[in-house]
This record gives sequence, structure tokens and C-alpha cells, in this order.
Amino acid sequence: MAREGRKHGGDRGTGQLVSAALLLAAVLFFLPAVVVRGDPVYHPPGTGDLPNGEAPLPVNPGGASAAAGVRDRGRAVRLLTREGTVTELTMSDYLWGVVAAEMPASFEEEALKAQACAARTYTAVLQNSGKHPDADICADSTCCQAYIERSAAEARWGLNAGEYGEKIDLAVARTDGLGVLYQGSPIQALFFSSAAGKTVDAVEVWGNSVAYLKSVDSPEGNEVPNYRSQSVLGAEEVKSLTLSAYPGADLSGDPSGWFGQASRTEGGTVISMPLGGVTLTGGQVRSLFSLRSACFTVTWDGAQFTFDVTGYGHGVGMSQYGANAMAKGGSSFEDILTWYYTGTQVGLLW
Ligand SMILES: [Zn+2]
Repeated sequence: MAREGRKHGGDRGTGQLVSAALLLAAVLFFLPAVVVRGDPVYHPPGTGDLPNGEAPLPVNPGGASAAAGVRDRGRAVRLLTREGTVTELTMSDYLWGVVAAEMPASFEEEALKAQACAARTYTAVLQNSGKHPDADICADSTCCQAYIERSAAEARWGLNAGEYGEKIDLAVARTDGLGVLYQGSPIQALFFSSAAGKTVDAVEVWGNSVAYLKSVDSPEGNEVPNYRSQSVLGAEEVKSLTLSAYPGADLSGDPSGWFGQASRTEGGTVISMPLGGVTLTGGQVRSLFSLRSACFTVTWDGAQFTFDVTGYGHGVGMSQYGANAMAKGGSSFEDILTWYYTGTQVGLLW
């Protein structure tokens, strides 16, 4: 996990300011070559096309521009709201609302910065995808990325509103313009809530391999709320849910024989599992029975099925609780991002 140290922010002399200005000029000159153009969005199960591109840009030089967030404030996002209207925001205001919606504001600053970079990268890729005809991105977390308006987030935080709002301001501004790059191009920066010891290789969830979405160890554990959860379903409920989605399944026999032997990742996530003679992916079983993750076991006790589930989310990419655990252990946001996104670098998107 060790990486070369990189310094951000802090005091900078005139020489560094000049360097920063030169670097900014270089960035603007090369911008057309850097901004991703029509890279395919990772729609699971997608084609698995990998980004290709040029060498990564240097990491944010920091200094005044980073502290002020000028790169993100100079860039617009067209957001499709949950009410169906399209609103235009600055990238910095948009990312504030994404971080506030996607990660607990009580998390460590480096975890919030990692989340800001992941969300910025995810947005950069979607902005060139044409996924939504009249907007860059929507506010539905099951489609694109969650987003909450500042006033709503602050109302939810109550007495902590001032502190939390400022933490997220800093997380966005101190990572101004930064994203996660693989071979110079922004990645599909997938993230999720908590892992069962290891993240999951994208190939095991969606069937297509992505170079930077590999399985890595993830340090969160029992301190995560609802890390282990249980769902109990009766046979009739399992049967009706299954047959409505998979009419070809045969659930005529004794329920003890409905679920077959699962194939699993090393971390215990179900890759595939037969159900009534139909082979489903772990993700399909998860969504069919509304389980918190695909890392589960199922038992039949003669009266009902019990699903014992670990972690929350699809398990691919950055674990948010894992990011927070790494931050508590002293990792920087760059350590966190390059740990969860294999073979990537942190660099400027714009
Ligand atoms: Zn969407």
C-alpha cells in the first residue's frame, strides 16, 4: 500500500506559483487531449472496453488554485433532478451534494477527499457518455450518483451542519480538479458502502474484466453499522419472487432442494448459484431478495429461508467504510484511491 509521498497545499513560494501557472497553461493547452471523449460508460454488464489514452497528467500542484477550487468552479454540470427537471450547477457545488449524499459527513477528511475524487471521476466519464439526452448525470443513485441539495443536507445534520458542511467544502476544494486515471484516462470509479473483507473483481459481478477493478483487501469490519445482516423469507415468498422474475425455475419440490451449491469468490461473495434449476449470479439473487450484498449464505430450517449477509453494496471498486478505516490508519486520499483502483494514478481531470 506504500506509495511515494505527495504534498498538497501548504505554503508555496513565488517559484512554485510560477511553476503552477506554467503547469496550468500546459494543462489548458493539452486539455482537448486529456478530457475523455466518448469513453464507454461502464453499464454492467457492459462490453468491458477499457479506456485508452495518453500519459497521466501530473498530480495537482496544489497552492492557491486548489484551495480556492477554481478548476471545479469553472466547470458546469447539467443535473437531472429526482423531480425530472434539469438544473445547471458548478462542478464544485454538484460534488458537494454528491459527497454529502454518498458518504457520512462524520467520516475522516481523507476519506471524504477520496469520495470527492471518485465522484468527480465518475461524473467526468458520464459527461461524455450521452446516457441522459438533456443532462450529464442524474440524481438517482441506482442510475448515476446520489445528490442532495445543501439546504436539505444541512437540515438533516442539525447542530452538526456547520462543521459537516465545511468538511465537505474542504474535501472538494482540496482535491480541485483531481480524479483517478488509468493509463491517462478517467476510470469508471465505482464505489460502494462496505466490503466483506475483500472487494470483488468486476468480472465476477458483471462478467467483463476491467484492469483497475480487481479484488483487494478491505480493512473495515464489525464497526460498520449492520455489517452483518439477516433476511428471513418463507418458502411461498421465495417461490413467488423467483417465478415472477424467472418463470423457467422449477420450485415444485421440497424447498430444501431449491438452492444449489454456490460458487464463491475468495472473499465469500456469491458468483453464481442455482435456484430451481436456473443459474443466477450472486447479484441477481441479491436483487431478487433485496439482500444488502451478494456475500451471503442461505439456509432452510424446514419452515423458512435465512440469508446471512455481510457488507453492503455490489463490492466493486472503492469501499467507503474501507476508505474511512484506511484514513483512520493514516492513509491519504491518494493512498486510498490507488489501493482500491488497481494500477491507477491520481491526476488532474481539468
Ligand atoms: Zn442517471
